[in-house]
Amino acid sequence: MQPYVLMNAQFRPGRGELAHLEQVSVDRSFHAILRSLEAIGAAGAALAVIRERVPDYEPEPAIFDTAVSFLASLNDGAPPEEALLSLQIRALAILGFAPMLDRCVLCGKTLAASRSASFDAARGGIVCRACGGGRLVLSAASLRRWVVVQSTSAFAEEAWADREREEIRDALAQLDASHATVTVRERTAGASGSWEGRLS
Ligand SMILES: [Zn+2]
Repeated sequence: MQPYVLMNAQFRPGRGELAHLEQVSVDRSFHAILRSLEAIGAAGAALAVIRERVPDYEPEPAIFDTAVSFLASLNDGAPPEEALLSLQIRALAILGFAPMLDRCVLCGKTLAASRSASFDAARGGIVCRACGGGRLVLSAASLRRWVVVQSTSAFAEEAWADREREEIRDALAQLDASHATVTVRERTAGASGSWEGRLS
């Protein structure tokens, strides 16, 4: 109803997709986002990512909280692209699609710390050279950044190095492109019959 505002709405179900709105109140407003085109772009892209990944009518409280904290940090002036990339990394982790970054997804060989590694989104993470490597290289700094972002709830207040931003952006884009196949493979491998049913 209004962009970048956290609202509390009470409604009763109506016919089909329509609902009868009974009461609306504003909980929080993130209006400072509107002062920066870059922040508006990042906020729009983040909400689109969430809409795409979270099915309708399925509550995802952790995603909701992450989205609110993302909007709050953009409102407070966090660097927009870093905030958006962080949100994408966390959404993947919360929804169970975090890539494997500490060892090879194929042979399980542990990645030496402070080394760069080949990344293959379609296979779900790092692929060592002996197993054929991946299409993209993630530097040690990018790998460290990814792991830190994934395990904290705060959003970046400072800009990242250009190389980290570029590598993480490319890896996330690859993950996004291969998301459909990863979804089917991981969810069916997860011994959860209900997922299979829903995907077919
Ligand atoms: Zn390997």
